[in-house]
Amino acid sequence: MNIILLGPPGAGKGTQAKMLVDKYGIPQISTGEILRANLKAGTQLGLEAKKYMDAGKLVPDEVVIGIINNRIQEEDCRRGYMLDGFPRTVAQAQALDKILAEQGSGIDDVISIEVADHELMGRLTGRRTCRQCGQGFHVMFDPPKVEGICDKCGGELYQRDDDNEKTVANRLKVYSDQTQPLIDYYKKKSLLRSIDGVGDIKEIFGRVVKVLG
Ligand code: ADP
Ligand code: ADP
Ligand code: ZN
Repeated sequence: MNIILLGPPGAGKGTQAKMLVDKYGIPQISTGEILRANLKAGTQLGLEAKKYMDAGKLVPDEVVIGIINNRIQEEDCRRGYMLDGFPRTVAQAQALDKILAEQGSGIDDVISIEVADHELMGRLTGRRTCRQCGQGFHVMFDPPKVEGICDKCGGELYQRDDDNEKTVANRLKVYSDQTQPLIDYYKKKSLLRSIDGVGDIKEIFGRVVKVLG
């Protein structure tokens, strides 16, 4: 079960991915989370990536392709995985196809979570993220039981540096310029499963599970 979660920033990819991990027991691979973990650990990769992330730009393709190539070869990926936030460009998608073809494997489903642009700004500026486990919350739409504390692991919640209005505006532009073309890319391969991403989080999860069968 190799799945891609596609959709604009704020569509709910991370939220749905965390629920899918619990249901299917396959790992979520988020390039954004891996980059933030590198930044926290102070690696060269993290420091390089920060410049792009703070500006709402994409980290160079070679960097994220290298991350994914290594990560999907780890033991816990043998039964499948979910890619969250990768690929984000046609070049990344082509590189992924090549890597998987060489392994005799491939993508089974691309879940495209559809949310209109005007919903996304409020979702992202109100997002709070767990420093420890990466779980996302929302100050209004999905508040934690105790303010500032992660329900799942007790970690501290924070607001990501790039979840401010100016950077979000850039990220939405980058999405429509560079990532949206992937919808057509996967439609042509008959892998695209589109899902309405507006509504109750649990209801949307039901839609995703139904599509995955
Ligand atoms: P992505 O990973 O696609 O960028 P997230 O899963 O982090 O998106 O969700 C972005 C924000 O929107 C988070 O604060 C999350 O709690 C909230 N959110 C997720 N799904 C919904 C939904 N169906 N309705 C309202 N808010 C949502
Ligand atoms: P969101 O949850 O809003 O979709 P992510 O956590 O997926 O955000 O990504 C945060 C930032 O990390 C992006 O704005 C970009 O700078 C970088 N990034 C993550 N994944 C990729 C990727 N596949 N290609 C290039 N840059 C990426
Ligand atoms: Zn947590």
